[in-house]
Amino acid sequence: MPAPSGSPLLPRIRLLATGGTIAGAQPSAGGPGYKAAVFSAEALIAAVPQLTDRAEIEIEQVAAIGSQDMDTATWRKLAQRTQAAVDDPRISGVVVTHGTDTLEETAFFLNLVVRTGKPVVLVGAMRPATAISADGPMNLYNAVAVATHPDSADRGVLVVANDEVHFAREVAKTNTTQVGTFRATHRGLAGIVNSGRLHLYAPPVRRHTAASEFAPLAPAPLPRVDIVYAYAGMGRELLDAAVQTGAGGLVIAGVGEGNLGAEAVQAAAAAARKGVAVVRSSRTGGGVVERNIEVDDDGLGFIAADELNPQKSRVLLMLGLTRSRDPLELQAMFLSY
Ligand code: GLU
Repeated sequence: MPAPSGSPLLPRIRLLATGGTIAGAQPSAGGPGYKAAVFSAEALIAAVPQLTDRAEIEIEQVAAIGSQDMDTATWRKLAQRTQAAVDDPRISGVVVTHGTDTLEETAFFLNLVVRTGKPVVLVGAMRPATAISADGPMNLYNAVAVATHPDSADRGVLVVANDEVHFAREVAKTNTTQVGTFRATHRGLAGIVNSGRLHLYAPPVRRHTAASEFAPLAPAPLPRVDIVYAYAGMGRELLDAAVQTGAGGLVIAGVGEGNLGAEAVQAAAAAARKGVAVVRSSRTGGGVVERNIEVDDDGLGFIAADELNPQKSRVLLMLGLTRSRDPLELQAMFLSY
């Protein structure tokens, strides 16, 4: 039987709110257009009274933005507040409300920089809070259920949406508008959650949270890393511009297995010779980028992204560059995380 509301027997969750569509409002219900981050976290919780049977929820508003405006300063603040929450012995787990556009990047960042075995769960919604059949309330309810469940411990940062549980490393937004946007293209779901009933499957692959060398987040500034998208007929201009304007690292969203045309390869090789880290990822949305297949990574000093998509490669490279500029040491990180 659930404990009564306010019972000290209920697990205590810290909800860190950052905005997003889950807190968004439309000018008229069901109509086009909306503004993210309108409703407070208190209003989101109040819309799901069933949460009072699940957890004591402490609310902290960390930001109030659409996640297209997420940046490294806000990541740092969010990482610090998440670390403070999990270090508090009264707190069982953390839920972060977040816009879906860059949710996978924030989830992977926290997965690498928060030192904990406690559950940390990111949740978003595709429909604004005022929409017909808004998905936010059930997503939030499920996120709290996952964050309070003992089986969620030691699995790294998790993402909950559309009755699914995803690993931070695996998940990607794959659709502009549909509620089933989050997919894990490489090895599927972490689990499912039906009206708060959790079923978890395989454990995560690769190092995370308590086993991450980047956790807890160090004060060292994160270098600028740019993503350059490859295409047929790509020249060298954007790569050269990134280096000339101070990028410390480049991630190529390469064609196929992280490929880029000959002129772009020359520009990337020149960047690597100047000490700029160059990671080859893929624009395909799935699969491994291996070393030395069609590109001479050994000779040119490049790094292959393994399975990480360009935006997650950028997150790891930013953190990796705080430790090393050596391409082979950075390569080892891409095979570990
Ligand atoms: N641009 C918004 C955001 O990322 C919309 C995406 C969403 O939250 O669903 O915050």
